[in-house]
Amino acid sequence: MRRKLVVGNWKLNGSFARNTALLGEVRSGGCVEGVDIAVCPPFPYLQQAGDMLSGSSVLLGAQDVSAYQEGAYTGEVSGRMLVDLGCTYVIVGHSERRSLFGETDSRVASKVGAALAAGLTPIVCVGESRSQRELGGAEQVVASQLESVVAAIDIKLLDRLVVAYEPVWAIGTGLTATPEQAQSMHVFIRRCLGRGGVDSDGVRILYGGSVNAGNALQLFNEKDIDGALVGGASLVFDGFKAICEAASKASL
Ligand code: PEP
Repeated sequence: MRRKLVVGNWKLNGSFARNTALLGEVRSGGCVEGVDIAVCPPFPYLQQAGDMLSGSSVLLGAQDVSAYQEGAYTGEVSGRMLVDLGCTYVIVGHSERRSLFGETDSRVASKVGAALAAGLTPIVCVGESRSQRELGGAEQVVASQLESVVAAIDIKLLDRLVVAYEPVWAIGTGLTATPEQAQSMHVFIRRCLGRGGVDSDGVRILYGGSVNAGNALQLFNEKDIDGALVGGASLVFDGFKAICEAASKASL
């Protein structure tokens, strides 16, 4: 049985004052039975979040990691630095990084390798654009995104991955994949990982794309949807908490 995981991706949002309020709520109310919960604030607030969440069951993640370990790479943040800050998870290959910052499949694979080498759990994002889905190429896109990771990483490490299926057309748009669409892609992802030699039964596959309090339970009731990567709805505690509670309900 895979334990459900709900991860809040704060993206480029927050301030010390706003975070103090939200983290305080997450700390006191963000523990629900049977669910792992993590938040991923921007880099400058990881220390604040780590301090405020210390001693609670809510885990810390980052939104990106360098492919490099150290050296002359101005502006980069390494996996070891994230571990120093108390991170457990790191999001890698989010579609915003792929589309806005030119991250290629091979760069994503290098980052996954760097994250694993540092002892972090990478949450690897994959997903097709609207036109790719309309042209019938969704599975092919997702398969090739996954294959570049599987081909680059020591197979023994790959069952530590978390995968997030995030159809690009559903991110921040209010258009959620139907539970059937998401379940079908999650089964496909598990099959791709299995074909690559990964022990895929234990790999958690999250859905991401306009998850909210109203649609979370239906998604989580699907057998292969092991939780969610949540953007906008993770910035308001009541909504985030309701998603975590839906994950708990679905796992009972
Ligand atoms: C995300 O950014 O990973 C995401 C899923 O965003 P949203 O929930 O806002 O669609």
